[in-house]
Amino acid sequence: MIEKILYKSLNYFFPILCGMCGREDFRSVRSGLCGICSRQTSGIWRKKGCPTCSGKTMDGVCDYCTSRNVFFTEARYLRERTDLLAEVLNKIKSRYEYPLSLFLSIGAKTALQSWGNRGIDACLLLPNSSPGRFGSFSLRPFSPIRELLSIAEKTLGLPRIDPLFKKSRSRQAGKSYADRFFHARSAWEIRPSWQGRCPSKLLLLDDVFTTGASVNEASRILLENGTKEVYILTYLRTIE
Ligand SMILES: [Zn+2]
Ligand SMILES: [Zn+2]
Repeated sequence: MIEKILYKSLNYFFPILCGMCGREDFRSVRSGLCGICSRQTSGIWRKKGCPTCSGKTMDGVCDYCTSRNVFFTEARYLRERTDLLAEVLNKIKSRYEYPLSLFLSIGAKTALQSWGNRGIDACLLLPNSSPGRFGSFSLRPFSPIRELLSIAEKTLGLPRIDPLFKKSRSRQAGKSYADRFFHARSAWEIRPSWQGRCPSKLLLLDDVFTTGASVNEASRILLENGTKEVYILTYLRTIE
């Protein structure tokens, strides 16, 4: 990736400071976040909890999966969302703090490799309606999800497809918990060229799994159009 080379050479002349507090240490140089700040984040998630959504279970029962129709095969996240990590995401979006997305991506390769034998055909991003919307090559310069996409393409050798488009112009973020479910119902649609011909196994990438309403609805649409299995990977997940 161009930005990685650029980042490395810039790093040589201008050491990368922590994107959150401005300190410089060996960690900020490598991942955009200094040691002190990264200790305030949650650790990398290791397989436990619900085998489907990776959420918390009580006596083996997952509240999330038993309280709704789940359309995806498996959802994983890299870290539990904390206030600091939510701010990290915001900084990448609002101030283009690209190095911070290196921090968020730690663990992505391992998570993806564990799906290496599932025969996933292609990957896609959840289309979003913010300015410079995701279309082919219209990703914002330092969209947080861009690094995750590049790791997925490299690790699993997946092509990227773009079968969904955003119908509703409003965003999920900022909506109440209940509103998210209603909004998600009508947010996306299948592109005519993909109608009934989506690949069998897909990897869907997004930045945060909050209520999961978005990725679940997107999975439902994909399943209606020929897909059999949807795997979801997000940087963060909100754990109640
Ligand atoms: Zn820091
Ligand atoms: Zn579950």
